[in-house]
Amino acid sequence: MAPVETTQYDYIVLGGGSGGSGSARRAAGWYGAKTLIIESGRSGGTCVNVGCVPKKMTWNFASINEMLEAGKHYGYDIPENIKFDYTHFKNSRDAVIKRLNGAYENNWSREGIDLVHGRAKFVDPKTIEVALVDGSGTARYTAPHILLATGGRPSIPDIPGAEHGITSDGFFEMEELPPKVAVVGAGYIAVELAGVTNAANVETHMFVRGQTFLRKFDPMVQQTMTDRYEATGVKLHRGHTGFKEIKLIRDGKGKDKLIKLIGNDGSEMEVNELLWAIGRLPEVEDLHLDVPGVKLSHGGFVVVDEYQNTSVEGVYALGDVTGQAELTPVAIAAGRQLGNRLFGPAQFKSAKLSYENIPTVVFSHPEVGCIGLTEPEARQHYGDDKIKIYHTKFTAMFYHVMPQEEKTKNPTEMKIICAGPQEKIVGLHILGLGVGEMLQGFGVAVKMGATKQDFDSCVAIHPTSAEELVTMR
Ligand code: FAD
Ligand code: NDP
Repeated sequence: MAPVETTQYDYIVLGGGSGGSGSARRAAGWYGAKTLIIESGRSGGTCVNVGCVPKKMTWNFASINEMLEAGKHYGYDIPENIKFDYTHFKNSRDAVIKRLNGAYENNWSREGIDLVHGRAKFVDPKTIEVALVDGSGTARYTAPHILLATGGRPSIPDIPGAEHGITSDGFFEMEELPPKVAVVGAGYIAVELAGVTNAANVETHMFVRGQTFLRKFDPMVQQTMTDRYEATGVKLHRGHTGFKEIKLIRDGKGKDKLIKLIGNDGSEMEVNELLWAIGRLPEVEDLHLDVPGVKLSHGGFVVVDEYQNTSVEGVYALGDVTGQAELTPVAIAAGRQLGNRLFGPAQFKSAKLSYENIPTVVFSHPEVGCIGLTEPEARQHYGDDKIKIYHTKFTAMFYHVMPQEEKTKNPTEMKIICAGPQEKIVGLHILGLGVGEMLQGFGVAVKMGATKQDFDSCVAIHPTSAEELVTMR
């Protein structure tokens, strides 16, 4: 048998998503490493195709409806039941994503990165075989450095009929919005997508196991946001004990689809769509990681050290496949640091990403922004007597013209958590209109080790909501 031809690279990157792209571009674009990206799906990965980008665009779409409602209180003559064409919006959103797919591939090509479309797996510890998506067979590649950046996929529960629901991937395929939707889950995706459907006048039911959602967030965020969603029309099923079975009553799209949810408690409900948002799983199954012997955690994530090294020399992992802070900028930053460390000058030989104080925003309605420790984490870490909490809750000026009921429904709330005699800021939690844009700058300050005195010494910008962060007593 003829030997299989294997092409040699300096760096092979499995997955052309946020982390893979970030790392490949640093390695090839900055340091000239001969780099190959292997991507089985659409270029740009989760963020571009079924994550941040379509999500934020849909958040914008839904926010316009909220603004139109608000406009009535400002004297605008806005008719009741304004109609929108969701299919028009979906097509425009798809076109943006298609452009981004092209932009990713153009950047790779400009920087000399080769791209192969196919499914990758290890055939020996240094050789990757790719099943080419064009059906033309397989190809083999080898490199001293191989990066696993294969991301993750949504999980669905193991109950009869679960497949009749959709996940966030399916949400972005919907051509029209269903009139009534059930969202199961209590994390980022459940809260963001339920917020979108509710703001777009879809009857939205959220099923959460606890009494609040966003349970990994500060208690202030959990409580206020859960109450806020309920006040603005989301039908919240708290303490839900799960579903026994899901039955498809009528197949179709939008209002034509009908699903019956049968609860473990014997309850039944019919909805037009069911969205599972109960977490994501690492994309590792097809990689044959047993061949090099890469160690996985109990949950199936690739185990890495602080430098993104796996248990196998020359094999690295980052981004969602490692389960570390599953955020696009984290994957990109970790990828760039790894590129610096492997291919950069000597000063970068210990380059790594600091996973401390990563800012994050939930694109809920309104947005939530957080950096650092929650109050319970800070109390546990420093001790109650070392912690000082600054807290404020107010109505942003945008809502001042509205009736009291609307003001109550739309609080802005902020918490600064300080530690030690210097009152170093170790946690910052904000929710309200515009906090997504607000957090980035404050994130820089917190990352630099700002104290409450540093915040106070910055003159306020008036009139803004953000000024409260530098004037809190
Ligand atoms: P991915 O971007 O998932 O890339 C992995 C790539 O590997 C994929 O393209 C996949 O096709 C490919 N692949 C997998 N297996 C193979 C194989 N065997 N061979 C070849 N290729 C393979 N983060 C934010 O920061 N902000 C947000 O607003 C935000 N919103 C989100 C909304 C949703 C609905 C979701 C699902 C996620 C969101 N995220 C957000 C998270 C963010 O998208 C991820 O953290 C990020 O995309 C992870 O990047 P990655 O490089 O690790 O993986
Ligand atoms: P998350 O981990 O954020 O949330 C999943 C939630 O689902 C859990 O917190 C849990 O909540 C609940 N859950 C788990 N199992 C079940 C079950 N069997 N039945 C009912 N509820 C269940 O995962 P997501 O899928 O929402 O998002 C994945 C990750 O993607 C996020 O962690 C985030 O890192 C990233 N992301 C980031 C975004 C952003 O930056 N804006 C947006 C979207 C995603 P509980 O324990 O309270 O029941």
